[in-house]
Amino acid sequence: MSRLTGAGEQRGAEVIDDQGDTLPLPAVEQPRPEPPAGPPSPRPPVGPIAKKVAIGLAICLVAGAGYAGLRQVADAPADPNAPTGTQGPQSSSPPDNEAADGVRRATAGEEVLQKMAEAVTAGNRSDFLDTIDDRSTAFRTTARMVYANLEKLPLGIFQFRYVSDDTAALAPDRLAELGAAEAWLAQVEVSWQLKGYDQKPARAILPVTFVRRDDGKTYAASFSDRFVAGQRRPVWTLGELDVSEGDRSLVISLNSAAQAKAYVPLADRAVTSVSKVWGTSWPQKVVVVLPAKQSQMEYVLGAAPNTYTQIAAVTMAELDAPQIGAPVRIVANPKLFVELGKQGRRIVLTHETTHVASTATASPVPLWLAEGFADYVAFEAVPVQDESAAKELLKAVRAGRVPTALPDTKAFAASSSSLPEAYESAWLACRLIAEREGEEKLVKFYRAVHTSRSADGLSDAFKTHLGMTEQQFVAEWQKYLKELAGV
Ligand SMILES: [Zn+2]
Repeated sequence: MSRLTGAGEQRGAEVIDDQGDTLPLPAVEQPRPEPPAGPPSPRPPVGPIAKKVAIGLAICLVAGAGYAGLRQVADAPADPNAPTGTQGPQSSSPPDNEAADGVRRATAGEEVLQKMAEAVTAGNRSDFLDTIDDRSTAFRTTARMVYANLEKLPLGIFQFRYVSDDTAALAPDRLAELGAAEAWLAQVEVSWQLKGYDQKPARAILPVTFVRRDDGKTYAASFSDRFVAGQRRPVWTLGELDVSEGDRSLVISLNSAAQAKAYVPLADRAVTSVSKVWGTSWPQKVVVVLPAKQSQMEYVLGAAPNTYTQIAAVTMAELDAPQIGAPVRIVANPKLFVELGKQGRRIVLTHETTHVASTATASPVPLWLAEGFADYVAFEAVPVQDESAAKELLKAVRAGRVPTALPDTKAFAASSSSLPEAYESAWLACRLIAEREGEEKLVKFYRAVHTSRSADGLSDAFKTHLGMTEQQFVAEWQKYLKELAGV
């Protein structure tokens, strides 16, 4: 079960992109993640840190299954106004009345939200349930679950903000079902901070349905009318949570069978393995989300249905704008993560935790360095034989196809047949640096590129830390690959 397998089982690719666009997926027959906001441009090796956004899929096949990391910062579900749009002149009220009605709805809705957030913060369940519509029985059940879930999380900040509403968003049959004097759908921004893990609160847009009953009071009647495809949903709205905390990790499971508790030692250990190489100058905490269903994974990530069928784990920032300090989650694909086996899961979690530690979601390092370094750390923690871990690359070298350059962004987003080689090339480039100069030097080299604000960051790091040009390094690396391949 410790073997790392090759191209046949390759499941995807990981990409980093300057603009936060999603790069096309390799040839695995699935839709690309949303929103594909235009053709990606190849990124320079090093660029301005502030503009970097990482988003994409990653994968390497481990132990007979695949693993992948998605670094998703700018998945931007929601222009809050976009999902429902502004209303045309459907109402017969004059504009002044419409505006006044809008203010009245916002005030009433905001009041409900305020009460709800205060009840959560104060731990007052009955106050929370007082804000929920009595006649929406299914939602009352959901609301009880949401409250119980929030109680299980180490919540710091918890806030709602009424963003906009749309009186025409609810279909006539839904309105009839609600049977209220007035009902409307509002887009609400929710912020929640996991104490001890998040420097900044996570944020998402939640569609909240409000009803005004005959007593003149306003209540919440749904958190799920009219979600937009690709809109992120908070994990605590998706099902009953099982939450477990270790010394270094918080595991949030939606799967009662895969107990969160069982994953805590694994996640704790990944943090220790990463700190051993990367050092301890990072928060040394990870949040791992274990959905029970593929769809839940897609909801957490804000992905189109079936985007991640073959992706085992993903690292994402739970904010719409990329920034250092954004709350980061490792989200597992329930099916593949189980198939990986224990050792495979350790490799995946260590790889993803390396991305978390090195804030790869907001870093200018080239992909070969980000992925190669993550695999270097993972394989130092869980050694795998070269013949397995670099199967496709060694095969290529033996067939006389020695790579002529370090893999570029395209290599990671190319057809699935070249993906294993890209990952393996990146990994062995990083391992060569560690073997030649020592692991500490590899880390220094990585950090130099990571913190550089110059377009020459990479070539400067080659010169300063390795005493050679990239070209000279590539020549050394080619020799190294041939040696490993025995040619
Ligand atoms: Zn990765």
